[in-house]
Amino acid sequence: MNNKFLVGIDVGGTTVKLAFLDEEGVIKEKWEVETNRKEQGKYIMRDVSDSILQKVIQLGISNEQLLAAGVGAPGFIDVQNGVIIEAVNLGWKNYAIQEELEQLLNIPVVVDNDANLAAGGEKWKGAGEGAENLLAVTLGTGVGGGIIAGGEIIHGDSGMAGEIGHIAAVKEQGAPCNCGKFGCLETVASATGIARLGLEAVQRKPEGYLKKILDESGTISAKDVFDGAKNGDVVSISVVKESTDHLGFVLANLANALNPETIVIGGGVSKAGSFLVDYIREAFNRFAIPKIAKDTTIRIAELENDAGVIGAAWLAKQKRTFL
Ligand code: ZN
Repeated sequence: MNNKFLVGIDVGGTTVKLAFLDEEGVIKEKWEVETNRKEQGKYIMRDVSDSILQKVIQLGISNEQLLAAGVGAPGFIDVQNGVIIEAVNLGWKNYAIQEELEQLLNIPVVVDNDANLAAGGEKWKGAGEGAENLLAVTLGTGVGGGIIAGGEIIHGDSGMAGEIGHIAAVKEQGAPCNCGKFGCLETVASATGIARLGLEAVQRKPEGYLKKILDESGTISAKDVFDGAKNGDVVSISVVKESTDHLGFVLANLANALNPETIVIGGGVSKAGSFLVDYIREAFNRFAIPKIAKDTTIRIAELENDAGVIGAAWLAKQKRTFL
């Protein structure tokens, strides 16, 4: 292989996903290493760089063929200085990750929040390909968000922009959120939130599919709620409506402010597919300005687990362009 490569690094709580991509964003090599969270995660980047340098040898390429690396991590990040302010899951606090990895790999490194990079990945090679204005929302255990405006990730004044999951969605009697507030979008639109709504709904109205699942397994998952709704179960449908009503409301208001071309829905919950999009669309159209409702495309994310590494490489490519 004589090409030049961008390195994409997506740090998660259990594994770090790694990839070498060409400058067009095509993955040429992809692998994972375990996330070693011992001693506040101090070995994670050393493991990552060791693994990258081993891969270089294994592929018979040279270090000079690596152009730049992008790193995505969960948590709050000072993007300008490449410092992780706090990533609770990994044990990182005030960690100068960019400086360390630049020394280890001897190439330019850029760091960003994983949800922002998922947005970048979907913009570059996924469901929002080519969109200069895009919203990405990841419905997983929590709700992550990324905003791309005018082709760039919006970071805001202190790097906190794009926290779509913590937009206040439920005004009255909202459930407590991990961030310390009540009624955030995350409490009703994450997999965890939908499961909670499902459990509450079936406890209020013990009948139908969710009652059967609860009796059998003692618990309700977001997938159970969507399975039930797709099969016409009344209680399940009411939960999907409640959740997507909040999500559509928040996305419509964001769209009213930002006028995105595309809204990309990712994460585990997005496996519900076009069924989910139809419900979001119904609520979105009620709250969006008619022209925005008409102009905005809502799509399921396409890159799945590769969104992070592709987005990281996209950012690395941009950084390299500025050097
Ligand atoms: Zn919150």
